[in-house]
Amino acid sequence: MFVDADVRGNIVRLQDSFTGMTGPHGYPLEVQVLLGEFLAAALLLSDTIKFEGRLTLQANGQGNIRLLMAEATHEGDVRGIAQLEEDVPASAFADKNLQQLLSGGTLTVTVEARGRDRYQSIVPLVGDTLAECLESYFQQSEQLNTFIRLSATSTQATGMLIQQLPAQIEQDLAQRKDRWETIHILAGTLTGAELMRETNAALLRHLFAEEKIQLFADTSVRFQCSCSEQRMAGALISLGEAELASLFEEHNTLELTCEFCGVLYHIDDKKLTQLATEGVKPH
Ligand SMILES: [Zn+2]
Repeated sequence: MFVDADVRGNIVRLQDSFTGMTGPHGYPLEVQVLLGEFLAAALLLSDTIKFEGRLTLQANGQGNIRLLMAEATHEGDVRGIAQLEEDVPASAFADKNLQQLLSGGTLTVTVEARGRDRYQSIVPLVGDTLAECLESYFQQSEQLNTFIRLSATSTQATGMLIQQLPAQIEQDLAQRKDRWETIHILAGTLTGAELMRETNAALLRHLFAEEKIQLFADTSVRFQCSCSEQRMAGALISLGEAELASLFEEHNTLELTCEFCGVLYHIDDKKLTQLATEGVKPH
Protein backbone atom coordinates (compact mmCIF):
# COMPACT_ATOMS: atom_id res chain seq x y z
CA MET A 1 0.00 0.00 0.00
CA PHE A 2 1.35 3.42 -0.95
CA VAL A 3 0.77 5.18 2.34
CA ASP A 4 -0.03 8.69 1.08
CA ALA A 5 -1.39 7.92 -2.39
CA ASP A 6 -4.49 6.11 -3.64
CA VAL A 7 -2.41 3.27 -4.95
CA ARG A 8 -2.07 -0.36 -3.92
CA GLY A 9 -0.26 -3.34 -5.28
CA ASN A 10 0.53 -6.99 -4.94
CA ILE A 11 3.43 -9.29 -5.76
CA VAL A 12 3.05 -13.03 -6.28
CA ARG A 13 5.73 -15.68 -6.49
CA LEU A 14 5.13 -19.32 -7.35
CA GLN A 15 7.74 -22.04 -7.26
CA ASP A 16 6.77 -25.49 -5.89
CA SER A 17 3.08 -24.86 -6.53
CA PHE A 18 4.00 -24.11 -10.16
CA THR A 19 6.43 -26.96 -10.86
CA GLY A 20 4.24 -29.42 -8.95
CA MET A 21 1.37 -28.80 -11.32
CA THR A 22 3.22 -28.41 -14.62
CA GLY A 23 6.04 -30.94 -14.14
CA PRO A 24 4.11 -34.10 -15.08
CA HIS A 25 2.76 -32.54 -18.31
CA GLY A 26 6.10 -31.92 -20.07
CA TYR A 27 4.95 -28.74 -21.84
CA PRO A 28 7.30 -26.95 -24.27
CA LEU A 29 9.18 -24.13 -22.48
CA GLU A 30 7.13 -21.34 -24.13
CA VAL A 31 3.89 -22.95 -22.93
CA GLN A 32 5.30 -23.46 -19.44
CA VAL A 33 6.27 -19.77 -19.32
CA LEU A 34 2.87 -18.62 -20.55
CA LEU A 35 1.04 -20.87 -18.11
CA GLY A 36 3.21 -19.43 -15.32
CA GLU A 37 2.14 -15.93 -16.37
CA PHE A 38 -1.51 -17.02 -16.40
CA LEU A 39 -1.21 -18.44 -12.87
CA ALA A 40 0.52 -15.33 -11.52
CA ALA A 41 -2.10 -13.15 -13.24
CA ALA A 42 -5.04 -15.19 -11.87
CA LEU A 43 -3.69 -14.68 -8.34
CA LEU A 44 -3.11 -10.97 -8.89
CA LEU A 45 -6.61 -10.50 -10.33
CA SER A 46 -8.25 -12.47 -7.54
CA ASP A 47 -6.60 -10.12 -5.07
CA THR A 48 -8.13 -7.04 -6.73
CA ILE A 49 -11.65 -8.15 -5.79
CA LYS A 50 -13.11 -8.93 -2.40
CA PHE A 51 -14.74 -12.31 -2.78
CA GLU A 52 -14.95 -15.87 -1.55
CA GLY A 53 -14.71 -18.25 -4.42
CA ARG A 54 -12.59 -18.82 -7.48
CA LEU A 55 -11.38 -16.74 -10.38
CA THR A 56 -10.54 -18.39 -13.69
CA LEU A 57 -8.44 -16.87 -16.44
CA GLN A 58 -8.99 -18.83 -19.62
CA ALA A 59 -7.75 -18.51 -23.19
CA ASN A 60 -9.17 -20.59 -26.04
CA GLY A 61 -7.38 -20.46 -29.37
CA GLN A 62 -7.03 -21.97 -32.83
CA GLY A 63 -3.21 -21.83 -32.93
CA ASN A 64 -0.58 -24.11 -31.40
CA ILE A 65 -2.28 -23.49 -28.07
CA ARG A 66 -5.93 -24.59 -27.83
CA LEU A 67 -6.54 -23.88 -24.16
CA LEU A 68 -4.70 -22.16 -21.35
CA MET A 69 -6.45 -22.02 -18.02
CA ALA A 70 -5.43 -20.84 -14.59
CA GLU A 71 -7.61 -20.73 -11.49
CA ALA A 72 -7.02 -19.10 -8.13
CA THR A 73 -9.24 -19.13 -5.06
CA HIS A 74 -9.42 -16.47 -2.34
CA GLU A 75 -7.50 -18.92 -0.15
CA GLY A 76 -4.54 -19.04 -2.52
CA ASP A 77 -5.26 -22.46 -4.03
CA VAL A 78 -4.16 -22.54 -7.65
CA ARG A 79 -4.41 -24.96 -10.55
CA GLY A 80 -3.74 -24.59 -14.24
CA ILE A 81 -3.53 -26.49 -17.48
CA ALA A 82 -2.59 -26.13 -21.14
CA GLN A 83 -3.98 -28.07 -24.09
CA LEU A 84 -1.96 -27.94 -27.29
CA GLU A 85 -2.55 -28.64 -30.94
CA GLU A 86 -1.77 -32.30 -31.55
CA ASP A 87 1.45 -33.52 -33.19
CA VAL A 88 3.19 -30.15 -33.17
CA PRO A 89 6.95 -30.12 -32.46
CA ALA A 90 8.13 -28.06 -29.46
CA SER A 91 10.09 -25.82 -31.89
CA ALA A 92 6.78 -24.53 -33.35
CA PHE A 93 6.18 -22.50 -30.18
CA ALA A 94 9.44 -20.52 -30.33
CA ASP A 95 9.41 -16.76 -30.96
CA LYS A 96 5.62 -16.48 -31.05
CA ASN A 97 3.72 -13.93 -28.99
CA LEU A 98 0.46 -14.56 -27.15
CA GLN A 99 -1.75 -13.63 -30.12
CA GLN A 100 0.18 -15.86 -32.52
CA LEU A 101 0.09 -18.82 -30.15
CA LEU A 102 -3.65 -18.45 -29.61
CA SER A 103 -4.45 -17.35 -33.18
CA GLY A 104 -7.93 -15.84 -33.25
CA GLY A 105 -8.42 -16.75 -29.63
CA THR A 106 -10.48 -15.33 -26.83
CA LEU A 107 -9.50 -14.51 -23.29
CA THR A 108 -12.04 -14.54 -20.47
CA VAL A 109 -12.07 -13.91 -16.75
CA THR A 110 -14.75 -15.78 -14.80
CA VAL A 111 -15.55 -15.13 -11.16
CA GLU A 112 -17.57 -17.65 -9.17
CA ALA A 113 -18.19 -16.09 -5.79
CA ARG A 114 -20.21 -17.50 -2.93
CA GLY A 115 -23.64 -15.89 -2.76
CA ARG A 116 -23.30 -14.09 -6.08
CA ASP A 117 -24.06 -14.95 -9.71
CA ARG A 118 -21.18 -16.26 -11.78
CA TYR A 119 -19.91 -13.52 -14.03
CA GLN A 120 -17.63 -13.47 -17.00
CA SER A 121 -15.69 -10.67 -18.71
CA ILE A 122 -14.06 -10.80 -22.10
CA VAL A 123 -10.49 -9.48 -22.20
CA PRO A 124 -9.67 -8.32 -25.75
CA LEU A 125 -6.40 -9.71 -27.11
CA VAL A 126 -4.94 -6.31 -27.91
CA GLY A 127 -1.33 -6.72 -26.86
CA ASP A 128 1.60 -9.03 -27.50
CA THR A 129 1.67 -10.15 -23.88
CA LEU A 130 -0.87 -11.19 -21.28
CA ALA A 131 0.18 -8.25 -19.08
CA GLU A 132 -0.61 -5.75 -21.87
CA CYS A 133 -4.03 -7.33 -22.51
CA LEU A 134 -4.94 -7.17 -18.82
CA GLU A 135 -3.71 -3.59 -18.36
CA SER A 136 -5.80 -2.50 -21.27
CA TYR A 137 -8.81 -4.45 -19.95
CA PHE A 138 -8.63 -2.65 -16.58
CA GLN A 139 -8.30 0.68 -18.36
CA GLN A 140 -11.19 0.13 -20.79
CA SER A 141 -13.75 -1.72 -18.77
CA GLU A 142 -12.98 -0.81 -15.18
CA GLN A 143 -11.49 2.68 -15.73
CA LEU A 144 -8.68 1.72 -13.39
CA ASN A 145 -5.08 2.69 -14.11
CA THR A 146 -3.13 -0.51 -13.70
CA PHE A 147 0.46 -1.65 -14.12
CA ILE A 148 1.14 -5.37 -14.53
CA ARG A 149 4.48 -7.12 -14.97
CA LEU A 150 4.54 -10.91 -15.37
CA SER A 151 7.60 -13.08 -15.67
CA ALA A 152 8.09 -16.84 -15.68
CA THR A 153 10.68 -19.52 -16.39
CA SER A 154 10.27 -23.29 -16.32
CA THR A 155 10.54 -23.29 -12.50
CA GLN A 156 9.21 -19.92 -11.26
CA ALA A 157 6.30 -17.65 -12.01
CA THR A 158 6.11 -14.11 -10.67
CA GLY A 159 3.91 -11.10 -11.11
CA MET A 160 3.42 -7.59 -9.84
CA LEU A 161 0.26 -5.51 -10.07
CA ILE A 162 -0.03 -1.85 -9.08
CA GLN A 163 -3.39 -0.17 -9.31
CA GLN A 164 -4.79 3.27 -8.69
CA LEU A 165 -7.76 3.26 -6.33
CA PRO A 166 -10.76 5.61 -6.40
CA ALA A 167 -9.90 9.05 -4.97
CA GLN A 168 -9.73 9.11 -1.17
CA ILE A 169 -6.42 10.56 -0.04
CA GLU A 170 -5.68 12.59 -3.16
CA GLN A 171 -8.61 14.85 -4.04
CA ASP A 172 -6.75 17.16 -6.43
CA LEU A 173 -7.25 15.60 -9.89
CA ALA A 174 -4.08 17.00 -11.47
CA GLN A 175 -1.99 15.93 -8.52
CA ARG A 176 -3.54 12.48 -8.57
CA LYS A 177 -2.77 12.13 -12.27
CA ASP A 178 0.87 13.23 -11.82
CA ARG A 179 1.36 10.87 -8.92
CA TRP A 180 0.11 7.91 -10.91
CA GLU A 181 2.26 8.83 -13.90
CA THR A 182 5.37 8.97 -11.72
CA ILE A 183 4.60 5.62 -10.09
CA HIS A 184 3.80 4.10 -13.48
CA ILE A 185 7.06 5.30 -15.04
CA LEU A 186 9.11 4.01 -12.12
CA ALA A 187 7.30 0.65 -12.15
CA GLY A 188 7.91 0.44 -15.89
CA THR A 189 11.68 0.28 -15.34
CA LEU A 190 11.28 -3.07 -13.60
CA THR A 191 12.56 -5.99 -15.67
CA GLY A 192 11.19 -9.50 -15.39
CA ALA A 193 14.62 -10.72 -14.22
CA GLU A 194 14.69 -8.16 -11.38
CA LEU A 195 11.17 -9.08 -10.34
CA MET A 196 12.26 -12.70 -10.10
CA ARG A 197 15.60 -12.10 -8.41
CA GLU A 198 15.00 -9.44 -5.75
CA THR A 199 13.09 -9.76 -2.49
CA ASN A 200 9.84 -7.79 -2.25
CA ALA A 201 11.28 -5.26 0.20
CA ALA A 202 14.45 -4.68 -1.85
CA LEU A 203 12.45 -4.43 -5.04
CA LEU A 204 10.09 -1.77 -3.68
CA ARG A 205 12.94 0.20 -2.09
CA HIS A 206 14.83 0.16 -5.34
CA LEU A 207 11.85 1.09 -7.55
CA PHE A 208 10.13 3.62 -5.31
CA ALA A 209 12.88 5.14 -3.15
CA GLU A 210 10.83 8.32 -2.48
CA GLU A 211 7.55 6.59 -1.62
CA LYS A 212 6.31 5.44 1.77
CA ILE A 213 5.13 1.89 1.25
CA GLN A 214 3.52 -0.38 3.77
CA LEU A 215 4.33 -4.00 3.09
CA PHE A 216 1.85 -6.55 4.47
CA ALA A 217 2.65 -10.07 5.66
CA ASP A 218 2.95 -12.79 3.05
CA THR A 219 0.18 -15.31 2.51
CA SER A 220 0.86 -18.70 1.00
CA VAL A 221 -0.17 -20.21 -2.30
CA ARG A 222 -0.50 -23.91 -2.99
CA PHE A 223 -1.37 -26.24 -5.83
CA GLN A 224 -4.70 -27.66 -4.79
CA CYS A 225 -7.02 -29.18 -7.32
CA SER A 226 -10.72 -28.48 -6.90
CA CYS A 227 -11.84 -31.60 -8.75
CA SER A 228 -14.49 -33.86 -7.18
CA GLU A 229 -16.94 -36.61 -8.07
CA GLN A 230 -19.60 -33.89 -8.39
CA ARG A 231 -17.56 -31.96 -10.96
CA MET A 232 -16.75 -35.13 -12.90
CA ALA A 233 -20.46 -36.02 -12.91
CA GLY A 234 -21.20 -32.49 -14.16
CA ALA A 235 -18.79 -32.98 -17.07
CA LEU A 236 -20.40 -36.35 -17.93
CA ILE A 237 -23.95 -35.01 -17.82
CA SER A 238 -22.95 -32.14 -20.10
CA LEU A 239 -22.21 -34.75 -22.81
CA GLY A 240 -25.95 -35.30 -23.21
CA GLU A 241 -28.15 -38.34 -22.67
CA ALA A 242 -27.49 -40.09 -25.99
CA GLU A 243 -23.72 -39.89 -25.64
CA LEU A 244 -23.89 -41.06 -22.03
CA ALA A 245 -26.14 -44.00 -22.88
CA SER A 246 -23.72 -45.19 -25.53
CA LEU A 247 -20.77 -44.81 -23.13
CA PHE A 248 -22.50 -46.95 -20.51
CA GLU A 249 -23.38 -49.55 -23.17
CA GLU A 250 -19.66 -49.98 -23.80
CA HIS A 251 -18.41 -49.74 -20.21
CA ASN A 252 -20.05 -50.62 -16.90
CA THR A 253 -17.82 -48.17 -15.09
CA LEU A 254 -16.29 -45.06 -16.63
CA GLU A 255 -12.73 -44.19 -15.64
CA LEU A 256 -12.13 -40.47 -15.67
CA THR A 257 -8.79 -38.83 -15.00
CA CYS A 258 -8.68 -35.23 -13.80
CA GLU A 259 -6.58 -33.43 -16.38
CA PHE A 260 -5.31 -30.96 -13.76
CA CYS A 261 -4.01 -33.31 -11.08
CA GLY A 262 -4.20 -36.84 -12.51
CA VAL A 263 -6.60 -38.24 -9.87
CA LEU A 264 -8.67 -41.13 -11.23
CA TYR A 265 -12.46 -41.30 -10.71
CA HIS A 266 -14.63 -44.38 -11.24
CA ILE A 267 -18.25 -43.60 -12.04
CA ASP A 268 -20.93 -46.13 -12.99
CA ASP A 269 -24.52 -45.53 -14.03
CA LYS A 270 -25.85 -45.92 -10.48
CA LYS A 271 -23.22 -43.57 -9.04
CA LEU A 272 -23.99 -40.96 -11.70
CA THR A 273 -27.70 -41.07 -10.90
CA GLN A 274 -26.90 -40.67 -7.22
CA LEU A 275 -24.54 -37.73 -7.89
CA ALA A 276 -27.08 -36.11 -10.21
CA THR A 277 -29.68 -36.29 -7.44
CA GLU A 278 -27.29 -34.67 -4.97
CA GLY A 279 -26.65 -31.85 -7.43
CA VAL A 280 -23.62 -31.66 -9.74
CA LYS A 281 -21.24 -28.78 -10.31
CA PRO A 282 -19.78 -27.50 -13.57
CA HIS A 283 -16.38 -29.01 -14.33
ZN1 LIG B 1 -7.97 -32.71 -10.01
